[in-house]
Amino acid sequence: MKKIPVGILGATGIVGQRFIQMLESHPWFEVAWLAASDRSEGREYSDAARWRLKTPIPASVAKMRVSAAAPSGAPKVIFAALDASIAAELEPRFAEAGCAVISNSSALRMAKDVPLVIPEVNPDHVKLIECQSWRRKSKGFVVTNSNCSAMGLVLALAPLHKKFELETVMAVTMQAVSGAGYPGVASLDILGNVIPYIAKEEEKMEEETRKLLGTLNGAGVTLAPFKMSAQCNRVAVEDGHTESVSVKLKKKAQATDILAAWEEFSGIPQEQKFPTAPEVPVRYVSASDRPQPRFDVEFGGGMTTTVGRLRSCPVLDWKFTLLSHNTIRGAAGAALLNAELLKSQGYLE
Ligand code: NAP
Repeated sequence: MKKIPVGILGATGIVGQRFIQMLESHPWFEVAWLAASDRSEGREYSDAARWRLKTPIPASVAKMRVSAAAPSGAPKVIFAALDASIAAELEPRFAEAGCAVISNSSALRMAKDVPLVIPEVNPDHVKLIECQSWRRKSKGFVVTNSNCSAMGLVLALAPLHKKFELETVMAVTMQAVSGAGYPGVASLDILGNVIPYIAKEEEKMEEETRKLLGTLNGAGVTLAPFKMSAQCNRVAVEDGHTESVSVKLKKKAQATDILAAWEEFSGIPQEQKFPTAPEVPVRYVSASDRPQPRFDVEFGGGMTTTVGRLRSCPVLDWKFTLLSHNTIRGAAGAALLNAELLKSQGYLE
């Protein structure tokens, strides 16, 4: 099969690097174009990027020149990993020019006609693409994946919401430093420390979770009706967001029912064996001191959410801990899975 050429906007950043790593031997897509800021434009990728991953820069990419972040000369499929303020300006420009923009940024996630998608959870929301003016004018469109901390949470909540209906969700996060991009938080601020504030993160978790678990209503999404409160902390962990979660359910459930819901959970990526799909989107570990980022974050190639410590909650009904890889399942891997869904539905033709 001839591979589809793809471009990466924000290719030199932390998420851009993950894209390059995950696309190295992708069977459907190949990196054909890289773009970043003026600082990087015109330079060889290996010179422009401060590569921070444990595998080397793929040889096919190392010598590529970084292009200007403009649609002229770009391929029709674009993975975007830009800061929200820049994405708000650039992503519509690429969609207008006829590109399929598969974005990581928060800029357009909550826009009425922009799908916010996790293929195992709400693949039907992709249809919102047809409501976008870019689609009508030039065939271009924008599809987004969620914030990195909403991702792990929604994968763990989706099977519970489907079977027992969520009434209330409380989540407290312990988020890795790689979630802040590179160079991110200064080492003097984070070593031996916890920072109880991540700008706009709590709001993103609260609204995105309800959009992802919401219902498609023609031209938009009706947010899921449960109450949700998030508290977000930055901790001195390299990769992997850990979350302590409590839930109240409308239909009463036993621990065995909840464990079965997680175990049975899978979706289109697993059924259709998408290249980036983990075998299991959610796995439960029974050891009382797990999940831990050091041991569990790479499970399923970083695409599986690991859940543990399920126990009854004296305030709500149940509480548990979850862990999700923020730059893989929470960013580049999420966008790749969205691209695989779009391709399987004929949107990347
Ligand atoms: P990052 O490491 O700071 O990288 C930012 C990228 O944007 C770099 O490639 C940078 O290029 C480029 N850029 C900056 N200004 C630009 C401009 N004016 N025009 C074009 N390109 C420009 O950030 P990141 O962590 O990869 O995050 C990227 C996006 O993904 C953000 O929206 C973030 O919220 C989201 N996200 C991140 C994570 C995570 O875990 N890190 C998870 C989910 C979502 P230069 O190198 O040339 O400056």
